[in-house]
Amino acid sequence: SSAQVNGISKRLVVESPNVKLEDGVLESKFNYRKNHFEYRADGLHVTPKEHEYTFKTVLKPRKTGLLLVGLGGNNGSTAVGSIYANQYAMTWKTKEGHNKANYFGSVTQTATVHLGYDSATQNQIFVPFKDIVPILSPNDLVISGWDISNSNLYDAMARAKVFEPELQEKLRPFLEPIVPLPSVYYPDFIASNQGDRANNVIPGDNKLEHLEHIRADIRKFKSENDLECVIVLWTANTERYTDVRDGLNSTADEIMESIRTNQDEVSPSNIFAVASILEGAHYINGSPQNTLVPGIIELADRHNVFVGGDDFKSGQTKFKSAFVDFLVSSGLKPESIVSYNHLGNNDGKNLSEARQFRSKEISKSSVVDDMVKSNNILFPDAKNPDHCVVIKYVPFVADSKRAMDEYICSIFMGGKQTFVVHNTCEDSLLASPLIYDLAILTELASRVTYKVGDEFQPFHSVLSILSLLLKAPVVPPGTPISNAFMRQFSTLTKLVTALAGFPSDTDMQIEFFTK
Ligand code: NAD
Repeated sequence: SSAQVNGISKRLVVESPNVKLEDGVLESKFNYRKNHFEYRADGLHVTPKEHEYTFKTVLKPRKTGLLLVGLGGNNGSTAVGSIYANQYAMTWKTKEGHNKANYFGSVTQTATVHLGYDSATQNQIFVPFKDIVPILSPNDLVISGWDISNSNLYDAMARAKVFEPELQEKLRPFLEPIVPLPSVYYPDFIASNQGDRANNVIPGDNKLEHLEHIRADIRKFKSENDLECVIVLWTANTERYTDVRDGLNSTADEIMESIRTNQDEVSPSNIFAVASILEGAHYINGSPQNTLVPGIIELADRHNVFVGGDDFKSGQTKFKSAFVDFLVSSGLKPESIVSYNHLGNNDGKNLSEARQFRSKEISKSSVVDDMVKSNNILFPDAKNPDHCVVIKYVPFVADSKRAMDEYICSIFMGGKQTFVVHNTCEDSLLASPLIYDLAILTELASRVTYKVGDEFQPFHSVLSILSLLLKAPVVPPGTPISNAFMRQFSTLTKLVTALAGFPSDTDMQIEFFTK
């Protein structure tokens, strides 16, 4: 892999007795230092321990297909168009000048990781994330998918109003031939104002037949494109929550039985998740609804398939998950967080109905919980700040979503500090890079096994390393949720450097302050 030194790329060679490469598999040993805790009468006892992990990473990325549910939406058409634009290094003119295609906003493609400080040359050493262990580029992904609207992707892109006209015309020959596959549509789950869009729907009302139809679509896509790995990602409309209860979906057998008996509470996203799992395809939920009910998680575990969710962490919430962490870490106490949004795309239209808005409100609100829990000096009773989320539909602004946040903190000696943040951006230009990252990291995870004891095993089916990209991370049952952005980033970069055979730098900078 490669590193940057003074902006110049260099080949990166790991010199370590802890790594070996055999038959395309990189085996690395990693000493995981971890504190163990015990509450005793005289206080909290901390015992630092080391655990030896061994990772095996198949180095060659697999040929991977990405199936988007909601292919014809703003995110879907932007994600597909941007890949062609990058593959063909497209450029286009705007009144500000020339633009060229890039992958800004994708952590896997554009972030760099701090490896350390080279005392000899006084250089800080950073490596591109994508060069630490081999990963896919978005350009490698084969993409297809479903939509309840039959617009081809050129029309969908025009409807989305995200790309400049010149780019739209350059993309036309690539996008016009792509027409989404018909999809599963149960009107009760998305807003009633979406009804006139639904002209590409799998007929009938038998949920088991719908499941078999989607499974057949996945199989066909896999065999026609000769794929080794398939990922199904929901970027369709936000659904309302489904009930979660015994007898319906709390075990794998129950969800299968509920599909067989055509239960009303089985949502379209439940059908897609179950179809993916049964076909050995990983399933990711980019929207806030509670698709990943316990029964679906159990089914994923049974079939050794990854699931991840919920809800892309793209704009306002991403900022919040970095900013509130910063406030709390600097000893300020956020007391009130008020977030307004207005947007004019179809997502905004769908969210203008109460049940769909409620799904979004829940995922947007959970994002500060871990930071409050981290500090019992500021939050002695663990009571969250007042946190209010408002979303309004304003068609004129289209995909250019406006997010306005007010943060009020209690500061020193009874004072208050108020921050007001205004964020304007095409929403789909924030979400599409996350779609690629979710797929690329899931594919990477599918090539990794690890052992702490005797046997190598894959990661848990609930793929919590995707948390960085998700507003309300679903994590394995009984494990803590981490929302703070930089903490999530460092979890991911620590893992990837460990796979490559070197621990990521502790960055204590001790060499700078010791004699
Ligand atoms: P969109 O409305 O433009 O696209 C959604 C597409 O899904 C539409 O084309 C619609 O026809 C289709 N659809 C609806 N139900 C379907 C079904 N059952 N099967 C197949 N297709 C179906 O919305 P968008 O702006 O692309 O956002 C997509 C999703 O991503 C939304 O749920 C949104 O809340 C979520 N999200 C977006 C962002 C962002 O920054 N853009 C961030 C977080 C979450």
